[in-house]
Amino acid sequence: MNLMRELMVKPGARVKLSDHDPESTPGFRNKEEAVEALEKSIARLGELQFLLYAEDKRSLLVVLQAMDAAGKDGTVRKVMSGLNPQGCEVTSFKAPSTEERDHDFLWRIHKAVPRKGEIGIFNRSHYEDVLIVRVHELVPKPVWSKRYAQINTFEKNLSENGVKILKIFLHISKAEQKKRLEARLKDPTRNWKFDPGDLKERKCWDDYMKAYEDAMEECSTEHAPWFIIPANKKWYRNIAVSRIIHEALEEMDMKFPKPAFDLSKIVVD
Ligand code: ATP
Ligand code: MG
Repeated sequence: MNLMRELMVKPGARVKLSDHDPESTPGFRNKEEAVEALEKSIARLGELQFLLYAEDKRSLLVVLQAMDAAGKDGTVRKVMSGLNPQGCEVTSFKAPSTEERDHDFLWRIHKAVPRKGEIGIFNRSHYEDVLIVRVHELVPKPVWSKRYAQINTFEKNLSENGVKILKIFLHISKAEQKKRLEARLKDPTRNWKFDPGDLKERKCWDDYMKAYEDAMEECSTEHAPWFIIPANKKWYRNIAVSRIIHEALEEMDMKFPKPAFDLSKIVVD
C-alpha cells in the first residue's frame, strides 16, 4: 500500500476528522510488522538524506502539527533517528516573541526554511496562526481568515524554489490525550512534561478540530499536501510518518552530481 496516497488529504476535498479513526492502522496488521518495516524505512531515510545532501539542489520541509501529547516529540526522536544531524534541523515554534510579533506571521517561518540539501522539521508552524490564534481569537477574524490564502501563496513560492513540503497532522482522540496527560502526572520522570496550560487547550478540543479541518481543507495542495496520521498507536504513527517522508524523497528522483572534471585524467599519487 502506498501510504502517501492513502493518508493524504486530496486537494479540494472536505475534511471531517470524525471520519478518521485515530485507532486505525491502514496498511499494517500489527506492531511486529510495523516495527520491522520502520527499521528498513529509517535506514532508507538515511540513504535518501545522503543523496539530498549530495545533490544540493532541493530541500525537504516536514511540518508537524498536533494537539498536546499527540507525540510530536516522540515522532521526531524515533523517525529522525537515522539522519545525519549535520543536514537536519528541528525548529520548535512557540508563542511569538515581541520581535516576531512586530513582523508578519510568516517572517519567523521563512527564516527557518531548510537550505538546499537539508531537511527541516517544524515542530508546530505557521499553522498555529490559524489554529490557536483562531480558537482564542488572538487576532480578529478578518485578519486570520486571510491567512489561508497567504499560506498557500507562501508555500507555492517555496515549492517553486525547490522546497518539498509535507504537512503532517498527528490525529489522536480526546480519550487518548486524557490517558497521556494522566500518565505525565503519575510518572515522576514525566512530571516535567505536564503543562497545566494544556488543560486550557483541551477544553477547546472541538474548536481545535474545526480549525484543523478548515486548515487542511484550505491548504492541502499538490505542492504542499496535508496528511492525517492515525496516532493513538505510537507504532503506527512512527511507521506512517517515516514511510510518507521516505516515499516523498523517493519520488523526487534525486541523482548524485556528475563530477565536473575528467576522472580518467586524475591520479592520486
Ligand atoms: P511540549 O510537548 O514540550 O509541550 P509544545 O509544542 O506544546 O511542546 P510549548 O512551549 O508547551 O511547546 O507550547 C508552545 C505553545 O505556543 C503552544 O500552545 C502553541 O499553540 C503556542 N504557539 C505557537 N505558535 C503560536 C503563535 N503563532 N501564536 C500564538 N501561540 C502560538
Ligand atoms: Mg506544550
